[in-house]
Amino acid sequence: MEFFSIASGSSGNCICVGSDETHVMIDAGISGKRIEAGMNAYDLTTKDMQGVLITHEHSDHISGLGVIARKYGIPIYATEGTIQGILSTKSVGKIDPSLFHPIVPDEAFQIGDLEIHPIHISHDAADPVAYVVKNNEHKIGVLTDLGIYDDYIIDKMSGLDAMLLEANHDVNMLQVGSYPYPLKMRILGEYGHLSNELSGQLLGKLLHDDMKHVLLGHLSKENNLPELAYETVRLEVTMGENPYKGNDFPIEVAPRSEVSRLIKVS
Ligand SMILES: [Zn+2]
Ligand SMILES: [Zn+2]
Repeated sequence: MEFFSIASGSSGNCICVGSDETHVMIDAGISGKRIEAGMNAYDLTTKDMQGVLITHEHSDHISGLGVIARKYGIPIYATEGTIQGILSTKSVGKIDPSLFHPIVPDEAFQIGDLEIHPIHISHDAADPVAYVVKNNEHKIGVLTDLGIYDDYIIDKMSGLDAMLLEANHDVNMLQVGSYPYPLKMRILGEYGHLSNELSGQLLGKLLHDDMKHVLLGHLSKENNLPELAYETVRLEVTMGENPYKGNDFPIEVAPRSEVSRLIKVS
């Protein structure tokens, strides 16, 4: 299996996951043009995508969805709540209703040779999910946009070969930063985003000997820095109750608006 990030951050998200036979896109929160350029970086095109899996209806996850749907007719997989959210987002424009495939959290479905597992997350959207994508014995997880994690998340995200994990903000930068108070409270709250510390603590619980690669993503432009996210997450892993140190695993930060490295697990 392989995956890469085309964009990851509070201003746009698009991740590509696939096997030798099947590729899917998770979120389409950047322009159709940037999605296509990102795919081209690894000899793929948007047309190759056999599905687009949407996590939730916030614009940084769906802003390019209308264009992709109209131009390529790619099937869209999302929860009923997310579909309603997409339909009521005027800027997305018209989408052929037959492209929507409603999914239910905790009910796996198949696209080509990929088995997709949608997982509930705690975020201020209608019915948001994260995804684990399986092919044979391999599993890749994409987990962003969640305010808190619990044993359910730890259970569903266990045994991954590689993952993209949110490290949204540094709590101090957010607290002293320029965001209005209610927005700060939203981000820090149960339905907001994972801080660097929480991200590192969660990662400490998900690591196992066969985890091959971790990409940190969905960094806030205002309230985080790539080096800070990287160092904080590694420190939390080292300090946590797990047998590992932060530098036992390849961990890197996904670029906000450029294509990441191609991560292969086999
Ligand atoms: Zn987001
Ligand atoms: Zn969101």
